[in-house]
Amino acid sequence: MSSFRVVPISSEVAEQVRNTGKSPIYGFPAHREVAAGRAPCRHCLRLIRKDEEELLLFTYDPFRELGEPPLPGPVYIHAKECARLSENDVIPEEYRGRLLTLEGYGDDRALVKEIRVRDGDEQRVAEELFSEANIRYVHVRSTEAGCFLFRLERR
Ligand SMILES: [Zn+2]
Repeated sequence: MSSFRVVPISSEVAEQVRNTGKSPIYGFPAHREVAAGRAPCRHCLRLIRKDEEELLLFTYDPFRELGEPPLPGPVYIHAKECARLSENDVIPEEYRGRLLTLEGYGDDRALVKEIRVRDGDEQRVAEELFSEANIRYVHVRSTEAGCFLFRLERR
């Protein structure tokens, strides 16, 4: 068992965007279109199928539910209902071997350590970050796009 679990965005947020067509909190209109490239859904953590499935692009603050000061950015979810990834301790298949940036945060949203991974090193690097006692959680981002993908929480 690993020292962390994978936490996607909440179903409450996904439903709110689908029902209102707007970003929670910010109220900006969500953009809806058929996926044109690699578009990972932050709710089920699967890829939104290119040229087939529709996505919603909206502004999301991954720090809000942690009670930290905001740092919002753009994310995708499936435009239609999808099943939230059940929280587990393995980085999902779709993200392995990708260019990912793992950011380890401590108290008061302080960035303690950031490591960029490639070649499938993400699980080991996540364990390395959680071996530091002052890292409370880790945000996983796309290194190329910079967008927030999902959170890792210490078990
Ligand atoms: Zn989805």
